[in-house]
Amino acid sequence: MIVVLKQGANEQQIENLTRWFRAKGVEPDISQGTDVTIMGLVGDVSKIDTELIEALDIVQSVKRVSEPFKQANRKFHPDDTVITLANGTKIGGGNFVYMAGPCSVESEEQIIYCAQRVKAAGAQVLRGGAFKPRTSPYSFQGMGEDGIKLLLEAKKETGLPIVTELMAVRHLDMFADVDIIQVGARNMQNFDLLKELGHCNKPILLKRGLANTIQEWLMSAEYIMAGGNHNVILCERGIRTFETYTRNTLDLSAVPAVHELSHLPIIVDPSHATGLSRMVPTMAMGAAAVGADGLMIEVHNDPPRAKCDGAQSITPDQFDQLTAGVNSLLAAMKG
Ligand code: PEP
Ligand code: MN
Repeated sequence: MIVVLKQGANEQQIENLTRWFRAKGVEPDISQGTDVTIMGLVGDVSKIDTELIEALDIVQSVKRVSEPFKQANRKFHPDDTVITLANGTKIGGGNFVYMAGPCSVESEEQIIYCAQRVKAAGAQVLRGGAFKPRTSPYSFQGMGEDGIKLLLEAKKETGLPIVTELMAVRHLDMFADVDIIQVGARNMQNFDLLKELGHCNKPILLKRGLANTIQEWLMSAEYIMAGGNHNVILCERGIRTFETYTRNTLDLSAVPAVHELSHLPIIVDPSHATGLSRMVPTMAMGAAAVGADGLMIEVHNDPPRAKCDGAQSITPDQFDQLTAGVNSLLAAMKG
């Protein structure tokens, strides 16, 4: 349920109404937008008498929210959510972000070189997997804790914040200095993991599941937000369809759909979506054109020898070209 307040509502009146809702057992989430102040109510709202609230001096209207996602819903929070990292990098609300780096961390030399190159091309965040969710148990599983240590070295060297995937709650302590925790496609509905991340204060990059609807994806974001962590970034990374020419099918329509339904930032990963490095720059342009808040791109120093996802990884030189192209498109779109 959302309660839209009249423009003149003062702090004392809002405070009184908040206390009244709390006494009824619901916690109001207050969103002070540019034009309007909204109180979003989550919990059991069946005991709330809507007519009584509508009659209050400071209330303009009361609406029931039919979608099952509440805190992730744009009706709760009309303005875009903007997430600010420790170094000041902003994600969402018109700030375009590049997260780039290798699929997995392989050595100190490799990750530092990739970090320097993606930074020089304009990336604001370094990606790199330390714990890898591989289809085969015989494939390279990532460097684990050593991989995290190398990412932190690269962060120290370049100043770039880092994003890396958490696969199990028991590893969370190793992520203390990680800037953004990635939840991979295969874990999008690992509800225990999501609940735990709801209690941490770090931004979460939530990838769309391999075969999940937009509503299921937003419900997973809701799990994190319900625990108190509102810093969720969505990442469209392609979904399973009957098509096999590309690794997945990039659902670009998810970008405007998420912008309609939610206030959370959404970025696009054309690397996992296509599985083909030659298609990555084109689909990156497509993502920027449909209004994505950023890109996640796999960049490797030597793709043919990559331990993971070499076929979809672009080189640092190709990444230079990609960011130049996308930046000119973004500039042209701003007019
Ligand atoms: C990755 O980012 O390397 C990864 C494994 O992504 P996804 O979970 O989207 O497959
Ligand atoms: Mn990968």
